[in-house]
Amino acid sequence: MFIESPFFRQALDQLISVAEYVDVPAGTIERLKIPKRTITVSVPVRLDNGETRMFLGTRVQHCLTSGPGKGGLRYGPHVDQGEVAALAMLMSWKCGLLHLPFGGAKGGIQCDPTTMSIGELERMTRRFTEEMMPFIGPNVDVMAPDMGTNEQIMAWIYDTYSMTMGANCPQIVTGKPVAVFGTLGRKTATGAGVVYTIEEAAKEKNLRLVDATAIIQGFGNVGAVAARNLHERGCRITGVADVSGHYFRKEGFDVPALLAHMESNPTLENYDCITSDRVTLEEFFTQRCDVLVPAALERQIDGEIAPKLRCRILAEGANGPCTTEADLFLREHSEDIFVIPDILCNAGGVIVSYFEWVQGIQMYFWTGDEVDSRLQQLLRRAFASTLGMAKKNNVDMRTAALALGVHKVAEEKFMRGLYP
Ligand code: NAD
Repeated sequence: MFIESPFFRQALDQLISVAEYVDVPAGTIERLKIPKRTITVSVPVRLDNGETRMFLGTRVQHCLTSGPGKGGLRYGPHVDQGEVAALAMLMSWKCGLLHLPFGGAKGGIQCDPTTMSIGELERMTRRFTEEMMPFIGPNVDVMAPDMGTNEQIMAWIYDTYSMTMGANCPQIVTGKPVAVFGTLGRKTATGAGVVYTIEEAAKEKNLRLVDATAIIQGFGNVGAVAARNLHERGCRITGVADVSGHYFRKEGFDVPALLAHMESNPTLENYDCITSDRVTLEEFFTQRCDVLVPAALERQIDGEIAPKLRCRILAEGANGPCTTEADLFLREHSEDIFVIPDILCNAGGVIVSYFEWVQGIQMYFWTGDEVDSRLQQLLRRAFASTLGMAKKNNVDMRTAALALGVHKVAEEKFMRGLYP
């Protein structure tokens, strides 16, 4: 295999599993198994104490057939090339499913951002951007926030790129602060989108979100917004989790209080005696609930946990939260658990990134209502096509979403041909 990594293997398995639904010659599918470019750079950073530390940065451009690469940039101790390559591949299918004019890409730096000062983070981000200059551009590859990165980091990338080019170029990166050519609605787009897809799935399952229960792993960009929006729809949030632990409270958590707590605390840990609600990862995922939202790391639900799930809807806010074994089980039990696959469920982020890129090119900025209504339009339409494909072919939602996404990319690749 090109990259030895369980997550990359999982992404490859997904591609292979839908090849039969994609009407292109086998050679085209072969071309999609290996990323177009993998770039690894060393990122030397002067620490606050005067020492020099080397970090490893990577960017994988899986496919640039449909447009510039698009995908997040992660900072985390676990980041490696296999993880980034798998996520880049998923981005290709996500952009295909949503009919966005982008290819799939992803990047990351192996580091622990929680232990770094603002100055160290800024120097690392700017040096990484400088090292990536030959491989990125508004028509080549456009980064965005992901785990461990945020709007400030995107602003530094935008500034470094523009300073080096000698021209203002906000469309080099999305997820920027609104004050520097960001778009309204980007920060909340992924979590908001997760909840729009849950609304669609709830219609299918005849589930009323008022009084439904939900369990959410991850309380960052995606998980916290999903918690807030589900709470606003009347859901009881009985499980929350972050890097400090997994917590279950049968009567439900006070979501506005949790959100207020997170404004001045790094984790959930010191919130209102929450540690007495601590449960194991398996206990957390297997509590009975209507909606389960993994919105943290990949490969959290494996072949052992999947048969014990007691939810009605599994909404994949995170990328790749189910292993291949879990997925095989869920495919066979799609009547019991309605899976909203990652490339559909968390696509709100890349949709609004697309809107930000378009606004940056045109220098014409939309209202928050315009962003939200267009987000809903694209996402609900993709949900309807996925559901239609699933019903027509009697397959599960993941197979349907992947088949649509892969088909769009593969067809374009085939039509463009093999050069020379
Ligand atoms: P984030 O860094 O804002 O939040 C991540 C959350 O996960 C934090 O609450 C963190 O404490 C928690 N976490 C980390 N390790 C954990 C562990 N071992 N157990 C439990 N919780 C843990 O990241 P995010 O942007 O919210 O991204 C979350 C997921 O959503 C990732 O899979 C990411 O790829 C995906 N995603 C994000 C976006 C986006 O726009 N931010 C878009 C699409 C997909």
